[in-house]
Amino acid sequence: MASFSLGIEGRRALVCGASKGLGRACAEALAAAGCDLVICARTDAPLQAAAQAIRAASGREVQAVACDVTTEAGRAALVAVGPDPDILVTNAAGPAPGRFEDWGEAEWGAALAANMVAPLQLIRALVPAMRARGWGRIVNITSGAVKAPLPMLGLSNGARAGLTGAVGGIAREVAKDGVTINNLLPGHFATDRLEAYYAALAAARGQPLEAVRAAVAAANPTGRVGDPAEFGALCAMLCSAHAGYVTGQNLLLDGGAFPGLF
Ligand code: NAP
Repeated sequence: MASFSLGIEGRRALVCGASKGLGRACAEALAAAGCDLVICARTDAPLQAAAQAIRAASGREVQAVACDVTTEAGRAALVAVGPDPDILVTNAAGPAPGRFEDWGEAEWGAALAANMVAPLQLIRALVPAMRARGWGRIVNITSGAVKAPLPMLGLSNGARAGLTGAVGGIAREVAKDGVTINNLLPGHFATDRLEAYYAALAAARGQPLEAVRAAVAAANPTGRVGDPAEFGALCAMLCSAHAGYVTGQNLLLDGGAFPGLF
């Protein structure tokens, strides 16, 4: 085989949380595969810079919408610019770590709104046109914590597990119409979020940042953390023309860190 196409040239993709990190890597991979993009993040300047960089690298059309996808107004602004995508990648920052004793209804409500209800509302808004067209790909960026819940991250563990359960059912409802819904579960990827995690660990352990970085990498079977480009490439593969029989799945990208068989 001389070359292999993902078969999504000319498709339109809406990628949330895409000015940096994993969302940006997904946007870059989809643009490289020939998709035109609508991307968003809350902060306009880095978002515009990301859009410009992706445009220059791929030659594809990239529209940028500064908005907060965890609010109804933010989602409305995004959907107004990209009302009819073939591909949707949902993503937003996760809740801060903390102690479960400190979390009342307000904290749980905010976490569920951001990491469960927001992606579900975007899916609700955009899936009818995908179904009508008979083709669609939806990827939710969740967390390895869905398989192995982490201490101190209860808000994230709970909200993401809720999203996982909800889309598990929805994926089976829309499968007949050519729409797939899958979740990508990152372990440790080299993004700003991971840098913040290193800093918190270094403070908690009283260790230098470099020692914490080295320990996190050494604890992984691969001896390293993930490259966001690896994450983006798998996202693009799940969004490809060839992945129509993969749906309702939770794919862990963690270098083998999770020790279970399933
Ligand atoms: P990141 O490097 O901090 O990037 C997050 C991106 O999303 C930025 O573009 C950010 O821009 C945007 N964003 C955040 N909240 C948003 C919102 N409410 N509305 C619109 N855009 C928003 O984070 P990441 O490492 O890529 O993580 C992405 C997701 O994966 C997060 O939910 C994270 O918890 C999860 N995760 C990451 C790892 C990892 O190792 N990296 C591991 C497990 C889970 P603005 O701040 O300008 O909005």
